[in-house]
Amino acid sequence: MPTTPTVLAIDLGGTTVKAGLVSGVGDVLYQNKLPTLPDKGPDVVIGQIEAALRDVMEKGAFPSLSAIGIGAPGVVDDAGVVKAPPNLKGWDEVHLAEELSERFPGFKVVVENDANVAAIAESKFGAGKQFSEFLFVIWGTGVGGGIILENKIFRGPSGGAGEIGHISIDHQGPACNCGSRGCIEAYIGQRYLSQRTVEKLNAGATSSLPDLVGGDLTKIEPVYLAQAAQAGDSFSKGVLVEAGTLLGVAIAAVMNTLDLRISIIGGGVSAAGDFVLEAIEESVRRHVLKPLRPGIRVLEATQGNAAGLLGAAGLVL
Ligand SMILES: [Zn+2]
Repeated sequence: MPTTPTVLAIDLGGTTVKAGLVSGVGDVLYQNKLPTLPDKGPDVVIGQIEAALRDVMEKGAFPSLSAIGIGAPGVVDDAGVVKAPPNLKGWDEVHLAEELSERFPGFKVVVENDANVAAIAESKFGAGKQFSEFLFVIWGTGVGGGIILENKIFRGPSGGAGEIGHISIDHQGPACNCGSRGCIEAYIGQRYLSQRTVEKLNAGATSSLPDLVGGDLTKIEPVYLAQAAQAGDSFSKGVLVEAGTLLGVAIAAVMNTLDLRISIIGGGVSAAGDFVLEAIEESVRRHVLKPLRPGIRVLEATQGNAAGLLGAAGLVL
C-alpha cells in the first residue's frame, strides 16, 4: 500500500476523455479512455466522464479515494465553471465541478484549464520540478501557456492568466482568430504555420515537404515540417527556426514582465528537435533585458501525453 495519497484524474479533450488513478508520486496506476462525444452536448460528455471514473474506481480497486482533479479545455473559473471550450458543443458555461460533486458525493473536485494542468504536471513531476518559477508554453494547434510562481499555478483573478498565444508581436501583423492582430498564435499556431509554409512553397521554395504529403500541399502540417527537418530538409528547418525565433519574442515579453528566466516548451512542434529549442532560447536571450540574460533557459517538457492526467492529479494532491 502506498503511503502517499492516491487520487482520480481526468484529462478532458475534444476527442477522448482519459481517466486515471494516480499516486502521490505521479505514477499512473491504472487508466482508461472513452470517446468524448463532443457534438452531443454537456450532459452526454459529463456522462462519459462519470463512466470513465467509475471504471477506474472499479478496476483500480483502491480504497479511500476522496479527490478528483480535472483538466478541461476553455477558461475555467475558481468555482470550476468551464467557459466556451473551442471543441465542445454547447459548453458556453458548464458548472463541471458541481455536476461531478453531485455524482460523486463526498469527493473533493477541482477543475482547471488544460494548459495550466500541463504546467502543473511539469512543475510537480517534470522538467519544472527543480524550478519554483517558470513559464510553461504549449505549442501545438494553438499556443497556450501557464505561469508557475512559487511552485503554484498563477491563475489571475478569473483563471485566464497565461494566454501567451495572444501576445501580439506586431500590431499590424496577421489577423488572429481572437480578433486582434499579430498574436504569436497567428504566426506559429498549427493552421497559420501550415498556411505560411504553403505560401512559401508556392512562391518557389525548394523542399522535400511536398513529397511527404504526396504533392497535396493542403495536407501540410507542422508535424511534417518536423519530419522533413529531421530528415535534413533545410527549408523546413528554416521555417521552424523562424517560428521558434518569433515564439522567443513573445516569451521574452513574459520574462521581462515577470522577472522569469526559465521557459518549458511542450506540444508537438517543440519535439521537432533541439534546433527549435535553441532558436527559441537564442531569441528569448536577445529580447530580454540585459540583467536577465545570463539565467535564460528554454527546456523541453518531459511529460508529453501523460501531462494531462498527471497535472489533473496534481490539482488535488
Ligand atoms: Zn490572438
